[in-house]
Amino acid sequence: MSPLSMANFKNLNPEQARAARHIEGPQLILAGAGSGKTTVITTRIAWLLHRGIAPTAIVAVTFTNKSAREMKQRLSRMLGKKALRGMVVSTFHSLGHRILKQHIETLGYRLPFSILSPEDLHNVMVDIYRELKLDISQIRDDGVLFKISLCKNSALSPHDFASQKMNLESTDLFCAIYERYHQSLKILNAVDFDDLILLPGKIFRQDPEILERYRHRWRFFMIDEYQDTNHSQYDFLNQMVCPRNNLCVVGDDDQSIYTWRGADINIILGFEKDYPNAQVVRLETNYRSTATILKAANQVIAHNSQRMAKTLRSVSGIGDKIKAIAAADEVREAALIAEQIRSLINGRRLEPGDIAILFRTNFQSRVFEQELRNRNIPHHVVGGYRFFDRREVRDMIAYLRVIANPHDELALSRIINRPRRGIGQGSLQKIMDYLLAQESESRPDLFSIMELIVHEPGLIPGLRKESISAIYEFSEFINEYRKRFSRANRLSVVLAQMISDLKFDLEFQRDGDNENTAKARMLNLGELVNMLAYLEDNWEENEPPDLFDFLARLSMQAQDNDEEHPRGRVQLLTLHLSKGLEYPVVFLSGIEEGLFPAPRTLEENGDLALAEERRLFYVGITRAKQLLYLSRAASRRKFGEHQIVEASRFWDELPQDCLEWIADETVEQNNNTRQNVLTDLLAAI
Ligand code: ATP
Ligand code: MG
Repeated sequence: MSPLSMANFKNLNPEQARAARHIEGPQLILAGAGSGKTTVITTRIAWLLHRGIAPTAIVAVTFTNKSAREMKQRLSRMLGKKALRGMVVSTFHSLGHRILKQHIETLGYRLPFSILSPEDLHNVMVDIYRELKLDISQIRDDGVLFKISLCKNSALSPHDFASQKMNLESTDLFCAIYERYHQSLKILNAVDFDDLILLPGKIFRQDPEILERYRHRWRFFMIDEYQDTNHSQYDFLNQMVCPRNNLCVVGDDDQSIYTWRGADINIILGFEKDYPNAQVVRLETNYRSTATILKAANQVIAHNSQRMAKTLRSVSGIGDKIKAIAAADEVREAALIAEQIRSLINGRRLEPGDIAILFRTNFQSRVFEQELRNRNIPHHVVGGYRFFDRREVRDMIAYLRVIANPHDELALSRIINRPRRGIGQGSLQKIMDYLLAQESESRPDLFSIMELIVHEPGLIPGLRKESISAIYEFSEFINEYRKRFSRANRLSVVLAQMISDLKFDLEFQRDGDNENTAKARMLNLGELVNMLAYLEDNWEENEPPDLFDFLARLSMQAQDNDEEHPRGRVQLLTLHLSKGLEYPVVFLSGIEEGLFPAPRTLEENGDLALAEERRLFYVGITRAKQLLYLSRAASRRKFGEHQIVEASRFWDELPQDCLEWIADETVEQNNNTRQNVLTDLLAAI
């Protein structure tokens, strides 16, 4: 073994090393938080390479793009970038996209296709609701897009899904909506996110030859966070790994937190049945947290009844007690946490980047941001900086989508008059009316119609001459850039040129933006060029990336709110986003009834939902390495009104001897609220 890989193994305990050295056949590593599961996957990849297995034969699947990137970085530090060439380290979605990019045409789609954003899907649904004469304002409340997604992730037919999960009356309606939804996507030559996994599975079933090619190429699969796999991912994966079954999965049933989105814990629990003769490894040492933190985590999760029995010991010392904060209200909660952070940075010499504030729901982050800002503590809301939600960024992505996929009418109608070029809503409506009047089988797409109009100006009555010449210029522009992008050596140079040709800066001023805002918007567009340049510089495939690769990368980053986390700042993130991560200091906030456990899920699913919320609590606690703070407020503003809130039932499940309470001093000073809060505080303690 090379000295480098020797060094990697020296750090592993015997069970970890046994798991990392396993090569052929199925393997299940079922172990608690912080026991080195992800570490084993990374080391096992190094071991496979060391044993002469080609990087091109290896596929490692992680839960987010961020963890894929981190795993690649660790491997390239261990082995050098060259040793990894051709290896796939990605999410299930990117893996699916890779396959669709080669073979989606076998399903009647054209290349390149579009991946629709949630906003696009909503627009598709608006049209369907209109057509079926349903109330558009109910789309969100009906949760119909969520149900379609759940149905796909559960690998159930719409009929079975509707009759199992919804009341029978709505079965027919759901099936009708589902069917139209798919027709609409097909016309747009577009897919949704779930299709990135569902469609490859379908291609494999239809065309065994294609499947055989992948089975031949990819011979070793590793999956992190396997407890959160859903049925459609399972089916997709299972087809590829059979019959060799060189599949190594790692996971923790206690950290399954996505069943509400279709993940099924039974998939990991049934692994040994699905893949007989699997090597099963239990890791029982937690290397992450102090003994006190681990004791709290173990005691909390022991309240869940249906779980695999696991032992998890700490190798660290007892460490500090868990600090418990009961504040008068949410602003005081945030202020106390910010003050603690300030003194940790000054006193314990911790970096802001060593600290994370976790919460159950996104809205909680606002008060933390405010209190950290007041104290000049650098911070970063993970997934909160919605770069991809910015209008100008969406506009520019829509341009690229139309250039890549002329059938993408959603993107086309977004930019047809942006920047304003004299093709108003009225003209667009006339064209759309004409289109909708055509037979749906032979119906041309919006872009082809625009080109036809130029040659046959009388095609659509009532279109003004000015509109027709604007349509001409616009389609010329798109065609010109389609040519330039297809011939370019550097796509990013073409994109920069296109942004400049479109004169968006003038458009921002016409929109009424002041000079600074207009500049900031232009910088965002510049950031898209930077992203494309980065992709071109770091592309690992043989063929250079095309526009389609760039668009796919952007949609995937937007989907899991992935962006580089600026180092050196306090990280603010939801519990769901914290999975797999670790921080020296963790603040877990808002542990109150009505917030955590989240009430909506409890109302719908009772005990099962409570068990999942408890797993989420377990995930949160086990992110902390040295110090853990748990906090709650005694009153919280809801729709502007202060309401007294109860301590979460989870407080009672913690080992009370591990807690040390920090009092909120304002409670002493504020006589009006003092009595209430004190009573509540005492109850909490
Ligand atoms: P999670 O369940 O949260 O995903 P995990 O089981 O994947 O956790 P890792 O993230 O791989 O655990 O490891 C947790 C921490 O323990 C990391 O900081 C890792 O570097 C460290 N670690 C893992 N194995 C060892 C070991 N044998 N010796 C020392 N440190 C280790
Ligand atoms: Mg992990």
